[in-house]
Amino acid sequence: MKSVHRCWVEVSRSRIAQNFRAVRAAVGGGIEVMPVVKADAYRHGAIEISRVLVEAGARWLAVSNVEEGAALRMAGIGARILAMADFLPAERDALLEHELTPVIHSLGDLAEWNARAERHGAPLAYHLKIDSGMGRLGTRASAEEIACAVLANRATVLEGLMTHFASSADYSSPQTREQVEQFERIRTGLAQAGIRPRYVHLASTIPISYGQRESWGNMVRPGHAIYGYVSPPRGNAPKPVLHVQPALTWKTQVLAVKDLPAGAPVGYGAIFRATRPTRIAVLAAGYADGIPHRFSNRGKVIASGKIAPVIGAVSMDLTTIDVTDCPELQVGDTVTLLGSEGAVSIDAQQIARMAGTISYSILCGISARVKRVYV
Ligand SMILES: *Cc1c(COP(=O)(O)O)cnc(C)c1O
Repeated sequence: MKSVHRCWVEVSRSRIAQNFRAVRAAVGGGIEVMPVVKADAYRHGAIEISRVLVEAGARWLAVSNVEEGAALRMAGIGARILAMADFLPAERDALLEHELTPVIHSLGDLAEWNARAERHGAPLAYHLKIDSGMGRLGTRASAEEIACAVLANRATVLEGLMTHFASSADYSSPQTREQVEQFERIRTGLAQAGIRPRYVHLASTIPISYGQRESWGNMVRPGHAIYGYVSPPRGNAPKPVLHVQPALTWKTQVLAVKDLPAGAPVGYGAIFRATRPTRIAVLAAGYADGIPHRFSNRGKVIASGKIAPVIGAVSMDLTTIDVTDCPELQVGDTVTLLGSEGAVSIDAQQIARMAGTISYSILCGISARVKRVYV
């Protein structure tokens, strides 16, 4: 099929829904699944993905910031929305206006949120993030200090208590266990003061996938898994309890095919030189579309159902591949950057390995000019 786009992604709505249901089945009833749709749903398109997830039964969605939450509200998403990464003082009005639930990261912020709630005239919910050892956002206050602040700020409601893991993929590290223990100390300290938040949540994709029930609380926050990925763990991981499949394929078109003689250089810096008579294809996508520049002379794509190597430097709008072994490839044909053709496939994890980065960064790096098609 010929496409009208130079570079596009195809996102499978049913895969997203299936992955969401797989997470729900893995954690079982009684645990709320809050899919993470930050960063434009890892570039799958936050509005459309949120619609699919709400239809599949999601009652909560998590975004990074106020702007992302507001965009979902303006698109008519009615689910609860948690804004996870610290919001700026100037964004507090927008939180209220769009009925977003903030994650509060410090007791100082809690006092401010309380003052805002008093002016608002109705109680405002928040989730409180504990820095249990990540050393990034979250309060490091003791259970007593938190209890005092929660009880003093009565115009607000502590609806959720949460933390985030720094080393969840590393099963040779004690850090996750230590973080769970630290979080538990705070949670039980609060319970002794009579404070029992409705939601308790710690886990993102990895601790869900490897069945670490002690970190599930009664809510989980899968991002990567919703899009069909679980990063390979280090060390001795338990058997996975979750199976998901990628929902996105990424494609581009062949702009030109030509034959170069042995010895001909290819592209910027002439970092590739043909060692034999070589047929190249010029693809209508480059690093401005999100193809890692590190793919230069190193990456692989799928052309005519076969793996074809990237040759020369990836440029802003164009990438060259060696198609000497794909004589049937023609101008206007589709080439798969991420996805599968027949038995051959390349996923974000493999792309990340070739580019020396992580799969999250590959997905989030698919740029805004890449068209999105929902299938
Ligand atoms: C991004 C994020 C998640 C989701 O992480 P995945 O590894 O993609 O599942 C969960 N919680 C917080 C706080 C996050 O920032």
